[in-house]
Amino acid sequence: MSVEVRLVEVGKVTIGGGEPVIIAGPCSVEGLDMLRAVAAAAVEAEVSILRGGTYKPRTSPYSFQGLGLEGLQLLGQVGREFGLPVVSEVVAVEQVDTALEYLDMIQVGARNMHNFPLLSALGGVDRPVLLKRGFMATVEEWLMAAEYIVKEGNDRVVLCERGIRTFEHWTRNTLDISAVPLARMLGGYPVIVDPCHASGRRDLLEPLALAGLAAGADGIMLEVHPDPDKALSDGGQSLSIPGLVELAGKLKRVSTN
Ligand code: PEP
Ligand code: MN
Repeated sequence: MSVEVRLVEVGKVTIGGGEPVIIAGPCSVEGLDMLRAVAAAAVEAEVSILRGGTYKPRTSPYSFQGLGLEGLQLLGQVGREFGLPVVSEVVAVEQVDTALEYLDMIQVGARNMHNFPLLSALGGVDRPVLLKRGFMATVEEWLMAAEYIVKEGNDRVVLCERGIRTFEHWTRNTLDISAVPLARMLGGYPVIVDPCHASGRRDLLEPLALAGLAAGADGIMLEVHPDPDKALSDGGQSLSIPGLVELAGKLKRVSTN
């Protein structure tokens, strides 16, 4: 059964048009050199959008909190250098205006899916929004969160399934594969699958990404680091640069067959 979803333009990229997009980049922007290395790999791997966290909503306040404004500036600069649209997360209404200066797409993270003032503020901006599913949210709550954005006039919403909390503890979260066709069907938004935050494990990224595409996802988001073991956040679920090139190649081959 084929379901029509609204097309969402992110710079020169279209999400929801039938050809799955790959969004890739570091969990956190750590500096210019690492970001350039990842961006060069992204171009080689035909990634459509470069991601990089800079306002990081970490579970522990003692963990690396991101480079903030400096990270946004680096992401904007490297995106322009490599011709890639860029997406990053904002965690507060006050960050939105600044973020608009640098980003082609604004991400709302799982921990902020219920931040209604932030969602409403993003409803008033001229930029697409990548809305991640809260790890305790039902599909209905996720779609209602999207409505907070749409109600204010911005219907350029893309959803991201990133796993929900279950009793399973060998994975960080549990990828809810049924949410992919369900949210597409009932919401009419494109849906991206994030196997990294869903699993927390590099060894599960390929099967989960393939499962996402098989379930009809409009794209896959991947974390990448030049030296994952030294990453300041989420190294265990990040691909190396050769790992990105290999997995992106496989995903392209599957989606064009
Ligand atoms: C992220 O994508 O950088 C992130 C923090 O993910 P989530 O909000 O899904 O935990
Ligand atoms: Mn991460």
